[in-house]
Amino acid sequence: MEFTLTDEMITWRAKARSFADTVVRPVAAQLDAHTDPELAWSWELVEAANEHGLRQAPLPVEFGGAATDYVTNCMILEEIAAADLGIAVVLAQHWKFAQMLNELGTEYQRKNHLARNADNPRGLFAASFTEPSAGSDNLLPYTGRGGGMQTFAEKVEGGYRINGMKHYISNANRADTVLCFARTDKDGPLTESVTAFVVPADAEGFRIGRVHDKNGERIANNAEIFYENVFVPDEDVLGEPGTALRSVGRLLRASNSYAASCALGVGRECFDRTLRWCRERVQGGVPIIEHQAVGSYLADMYLNVDVSRTYIWRAAWQARTPETFDPALAVAPKLITSERVFDSARRAMELWGGHGVMKENGIEKLLRDASIWLHSDGTNIILRQRMANLLRDGDPDAVIWDAVPAGAAMVGII
Ligand SMILES: Cc1cc2nc3c(=O)[nH]c(=O)nc-3n(C[C@H](O)[C@H](O)[C@H](O)COP(=O)(O)OP(=O)(O)OC[C@H]3O[C@@H](n4cnc5c(N)ncnc54)[C@H](O)[C@@H]3O)c2cc1C
Repeated sequence: MEFTLTDEMITWRAKARSFADTVVRPVAAQLDAHTDPELAWSWELVEAANEHGLRQAPLPVEFGGAATDYVTNCMILEEIAAADLGIAVVLAQHWKFAQMLNELGTEYQRKNHLARNADNPRGLFAASFTEPSAGSDNLLPYTGRGGGMQTFAEKVEGGYRINGMKHYISNANRADTVLCFARTDKDGPLTESVTAFVVPADAEGFRIGRVHDKNGERIANNAEIFYENVFVPDEDVLGEPGTALRSVGRLLRASNSYAASCALGVGRECFDRTLRWCRERVQGGVPIIEHQAVGSYLADMYLNVDVSRTYIWRAAWQARTPETFDPALAVAPKLITSERVFDSARRAMELWGGHGVMKENGIEKLLRDASIWLHSDGTNIILRQRMANLLRDGDPDAVIWDAVPAGAAMVGII
């Protein structure tokens, strides 16, 4: 095994760190402080990401990218999230669904939607699965009657008419291209009834509702989407009708690692800032790092970063080869990292004492941002259940370190 970073990885990490430190960090606290979630948004950050080559990095050169690999993408996200979680998530969501369109889309879809999005310095993707009555039911597909998403795409001449409503959608009100996941069979099991559609945000009947007011990750916007009789031509159906949830699982192998990398950036920032603080803050006549109990908290925070990062990189590295990809790696990185990052944020709050709750020090922002990952990309209970399902269905005689549960379905990774 080889753990050395390539020159290309080091270059991209430096580029992302420079963007994070010079562009994002100086404005993050100010944007986060806006009480109106729409004012926390910054097109300047998106445009600057574009100028730094980060908006399109994972995409092929023909779409303005550099075809960076999954591990490099995780490194980039960690760097940006250390400066601000929100802008990292804006890019991660965009990447995932642009990559999905690139892999699954037809030549027509790539030439039209992907090229149009690439040429727009503010071009972003969003993907809409979740509905007010269907969150986890899409991720741990619940096939009972009435379960899962209800947005329906009716077949009409030349295409489909979509009606329904989605909520909590990242980038919804900012994206120029939205993937809509809708039922094309009202009564069938969810895993065989959902179709993906490419919907330009200026399509007639596409309407944004409320922009959600979140506790953390505030620089990213999440909003409701109403599909009111939206016509989508046949050529904008993404993949085979009825197979969308399976395609998501197959194509977005690194999705969970991207989510985990965003969380990791927050955990790393908790550790970095708290380590410095504990070396400087004097109580009991010595820097508080000299107190054994403080040192052991810092050791745990260090391990939280290193264990998570090591696991994320392994999962992202394995995602390159679909034929040997262990489906557990599509679930575990976010599960492992989000809980460790939340633990680090709690420890940071304690080690900063009263200073931790004062907004001017930014530690309470890290706690708010860390809380986002307990549910985003699937709640941790749901991810545990999906792990448990893989264990239930896998080969009981397989040795743990080379087990690849054959044929296990990876479904619904948002
Ligand atoms: C910041 C943010 C960004 C998001 N971005 C997007 C996006 O871009 N696109 C999109 O489509 N969605 C997005 N979502 C939605 C997200 O995927 C859902 O919030 C998440 O899947 C949980 O669904 P829910 O909120 O409806 O919770 P619920 O499903 O109602 O869950 C509530 C509780 O019940 C538990 N629970 C539910 N079902 C079971 C079960 N079968 N067994 C055991 N426990 C269960 C859950 O674990 C949880 O603890 C986003 C959400 C947030 C907050």
